[in-house]
Amino acid sequence: MQRLGKNHGRYFGETIDIHAVLREVETAAQSHGWTSEIFHETGDFKWFALHRPSRVTPHASRIYMSAGIHGDEPAGPLAALKLIQENRWPEHAEIFLLPCLNPAGFTLNKRENTDGIDLNRDYRNPKAAETRAHIAWLERQPKFDLYLCLHEDWESHGFYLYEQNPDQKISHAEKMIAAVKSVCPVDLSEIIEGRAAHNGIIRPNRSPPERPDWPEALYLISHKSRQGCTLEAPSDFMLATRVAALVAAVNAAMDF
Ligand SMILES: [Zn+2]
Repeated sequence: MQRLGKNHGRYFGETIDIHAVLREVETAAQSHGWTSEIFHETGDFKWFALHRPSRVTPHASRIYMSAGIHGDEPAGPLAALKLIQENRWPEHAEIFLLPCLNPAGFTLNKRENTDGIDLNRDYRNPKAAETRAHIAWLERQPKFDLYLCLHEDWESHGFYLYEQNPDQKISHAEKMIAAVKSVCPVDLSEIIEGRAAHNGIIRPNRSPPERPDWPEALYLISHKSRQGCTLEAPSDFMLATRVAALVAAVNAAMDF
């Protein structure tokens, strides 16, 4: 599988019609019995959270998943759509799914929102209205057993992920990487984004208070969950390959 060689300095690959994708997400979610809550709206954009209750009680695993916080990373919302359409969730899973945290960014094909704010650096002292609305929504939710944030990296050589697991719970990272390997190359570099990596896995060791500019994942690990992963599909590969990589990784993480 070859890199496309399109990305120079930023993402230059395929773009999506985010309104159309989110309409499909809502239709698929409705037909599979999800409930939907709009937690923020501006212009013709709306931010919504989907919820699928566990089919068994009382031992549900609560899983939180988000996508589309960066508007130049189309595989995340498309993977969310595919996962909802495939409807292969484990019976015990209660799922909270936010399919797009930066819809306006997608119309610009830009990482940031319309005000130029990188929302994924805005979770410590939030400036953006959509971050504040997202945090207010999170504060109304129970704690999650696992979080998964779906992203893409325009310059990586393959798929990789960041894992946060401060309590040393059973890790899902290795089996996610193993599942991805059958559909997409994994970035085996020893340094990725300036951090030590091993077999496509980065385990950051800086504690959240040391960072001034929290991404969503640091908010989640500080307030909502004790375990989770940020998934990074390589956006210089075919879009279908990146979507397949994210879907494979999520399905592998679910199967615990
Ligand atoms: Zn991203």
